[in-house]
Amino acid sequence: MDRMIKGIHHVTAIAGNAKRNLDFYTRILGLRLVKKTVNFDDPGTYHFYFGNEVGEPGTILTFFPWEDIIQGRRGSGQATETAFSVPGNSFDFWLKRFDQENVIYNKPAKRFDEEYLTFLDPDGLKLELVSTNNDTRKPYTGNGIPASYAIKGFYNVTLSLEGYEKTAQLLTDLFGYQLISEEVNRFRFASGAPDGASLIDLVCLPDGHRGQVAAGSVHHVAFRAIDKEEQLFFRERLADMNFNVTPPINRDYFMSIYFREPGGVLFEIATDSPGFTIDEPLETLGKALKLPRMYEPRRSDIEKALPSLD
Ligand code: ZN
Repeated sequence: MDRMIKGIHHVTAIAGNAKRNLDFYTRILGLRLVKKTVNFDDPGTYHFYFGNEVGEPGTILTFFPWEDIIQGRRGSGQATETAFSVPGNSFDFWLKRFDQENVIYNKPAKRFDEEYLTFLDPDGLKLELVSTNNDTRKPYTGNGIPASYAIKGFYNVTLSLEGYEKTAQLLTDLFGYQLISEEVNRFRFASGAPDGASLIDLVCLPDGHRGQVAAGSVHHVAFRAIDKEEQLFFRERLADMNFNVTPPINRDYFMSIYFREPGGVLFEIATDSPGFTIDEPLETLGKALKLPRMYEPRRSDIEKALPSLD
């Protein structure tokens, strides 16, 4: 059986202040906080997961909010834009909302015959809304945002690269993506087995400066594997292709492998299961601080050290 990556699983980015990050994604964008946990390698830092009601793969944007981190710099070797899909004709709603909330944005523009709206989160992370009637996923109507305007999940992620050919080859030869369109220096790839969040754009910036990953930038992009067996399939092929790929790591809500793609962006392949309802019910996702088992004995110290969200 030919294995194919069906799309993006999640995107993880870096923020500064935790409370401001939580407010922006839940109140202004109307996403759901589906998990409030800590960075498994640094339990003094939160790890927030924002997504749709269930936190389905293809909807999850996650953050490590580090209070004292320096500002990152957008550039090559990075995922420079993360786009969400919204229903057609919803930009008037979002423009008005961004004006009211002092969100920095550019006026809507066109690319590949579709309208997009670029904006920044409070840490300067570059995001986009893409207006489309071709996304059949259900919108998540958090914080009272009507379904006719609400975010459905990721549309695409843009990687800015000095040279794009080797990354393109990885997407087509191993992940099963196909080049579907190109415009100037932008090359759009679509999963051969699409299931939402199935687009990746590669932008070729041969003369661009290197980006620096810190506040306001993407830390890694995770792709979907249905289960551990499929993850292992990709891991073996990556090792054969001489990628320095980690063993599977248990992230409680999925299993992960990590490697750096040829253009310098950190990639992850994460399993669809078990998902966010493994340790709390759907109704109360994100309410309580969830800790991995190894940190449970230190819960009261960890809770005291984490920044206040009130
Ligand atoms: Zn990840």
